[in-house]
Amino acid sequence: MTEPTNMVNLIEHPLILHKLSIMRSKQTSTQGFRQLLEEISMLLGYEITRDLPVEMQEIETPLATMQAPMLQGKKTVIISVLRAGTGMLDGFLKVLPAARVGHIGLYRDPKTLNPVEYYFKVPREMEDRQAIVVDPMLATGNSAIAAVDRVKRTGPKSVKFLCLLAAPEGIANFHKHHRDVPIYTPAVDERLDEKGYIIPGLGDAGDRMFGTK
Ligand code: URA
Repeated sequence: MTEPTNMVNLIEHPLILHKLSIMRSKQTSTQGFRQLLEEISMLLGYEITRDLPVEMQEIETPLATMQAPMLQGKKTVIISVLRAGTGMLDGFLKVLPAARVGHIGLYRDPKTLNPVEYYFKVPREMEDRQAIVVDPMLATGNSAIAAVDRVKRTGPKSVKFLCLLAAPEGIANFHKHHRDVPIYTPAVDERLDEKGYIIPGLGDAGDRMFGTK
């Protein structure tokens, strides 16, 4: 596992911020929203994989033999928190096409309000893999905490959490439980409203990407 950290890695690339602003607008269509999420996820995937280890391997170019850097170790696993995390997979897999993919499904128990797992599937040999948990909205943090709890039980080499938008309350809650898991996000908004939506935010990410409102 990674060392304890409170780190929030702000990925403030101009292209990402521009695309995110268009996504926020209520004028943006379902199709546009989905397309932009795919594009942003590709750029976020590029940034979050910056520190993947490489090793030198011998290859032959048409002209000579050389030692060339190649990604080291077992394939990274991207774990989507259903359902909105799914929207980040296609873009991410464009930059890391050989990555493995896991899914975790959680719903909120209406009585206790606690997240309850209904689906969990990850690849074998998690102990040799780096895990990146993806969910666009880090709002209260409760489902992110539960998802990372579950992923940690599989014993991965490291865990990172990647989202599109975070609320300060969600970051604080998340890091109370997972001080060792860095958060990667392009933006931290003002606050949560009384229903747990991020303000100003972009609305319900799942509804906007699937047109289910
Ligand atoms: N989930 C969403 O989709 N949007 C929010 O603002 C908060 C949680």
